[in-house]
Amino acid sequence: MQLVHTIAEMRVVRRELPTDKSIGFVPTMGYLHEGHLSLVKASNDNCDITIVSIYVNPSQFGPNEDLSSYPRDLERDLHLLSQYRVDYVFFPTNEQIYPPNYKTWVEVEGLSGILCGASRPGHFRGVATIVLKLVNIVKPDHIFMGSKDFQQVKVLQTMLRDLNLESRIVACPIVREADGLAMSSRNSYLDPAQRQRALCLSQAIKLVQQATASGERDATKLQQIAEEHCSQYGQVDYIQIVDSENLQPLKQVDSSSRIIMAVFIDRVRLIDNAALGE
Ligand code: AMP
Repeated sequence: MQLVHTIAEMRVVRRELPTDKSIGFVPTMGYLHEGHLSLVKASNDNCDITIVSIYVNPSQFGPNEDLSSYPRDLERDLHLLSQYRVDYVFFPTNEQIYPPNYKTWVEVEGLSGILCGASRPGHFRGVATIVLKLVNIVKPDHIFMGSKDFQQVKVLQTMLRDLNLESRIVACPIVREADGLAMSSRNSYLDPAQRQRALCLSQAIKLVQQATASGERDATKLQQIAEEHCSQYGQVDYIQIVDSENLQPLKQVDSSSRIIMAVFIDRVRLIDNAALGE
């Protein structure tokens, strides 16, 4: 496992990789958990070479969000990664990624402004920009990403398509704790009582899946079931049943529709989603 600190060094490393080897890339913000590691494993299973990046990207955080308190523990991350076949870990600095005269941003119209994008203005602009920059530096064949950030996957797939990039996203399943909570670096903010309340998201998904399986097709009614459940434990940011392809809201659902949500447990904003047929 080689640590790569600069963009220049990463470019040299990349240039010297054998052209007949497939490159898997796992971009992360660190504070790794089993969800991140499942992506590393998927890259190991599908690619010859695995490159992981650890970079807390300031441009995807809003002014009142948790950039300064976002959990960081590089030593622990490197220890976890050393248990897999990780060829390179790239951790650039803010100064390299956003030098003082930085001016260019990537906007994926439409998809960036709905759901999480509506409550986090500028978030997906920051995500699309950093991922394009990393992809241009790392030039991977495959980018392994979690379906936990379902909208992020859609935004980035659209960006790669529209900008004619050859890297392809492999969307991997959500890894959950035994009790159903989707793993997230932000779960570390939760105290034991909040951690218990945080179960409302996965519980609401189950309730809606059960109602769908019993024949309920009315999206408004299904959303109400989830909202009533979650609002007992937290503050609902949004809960929406959408078309899995274009993320547009639906009136009538089928088993390929998706429920997607963000709920605040006090100040901690958690997201989750699932196909209704799962
Ligand atoms: P982050 O460090 O939060 O930016 O996440 C880095 C990558 O890990 C993204 O592609 C996330 O979707 C993915 N990821 C985060 N949590 C999970 C999870 N519970 N299951 C699967 N992938 C995840």
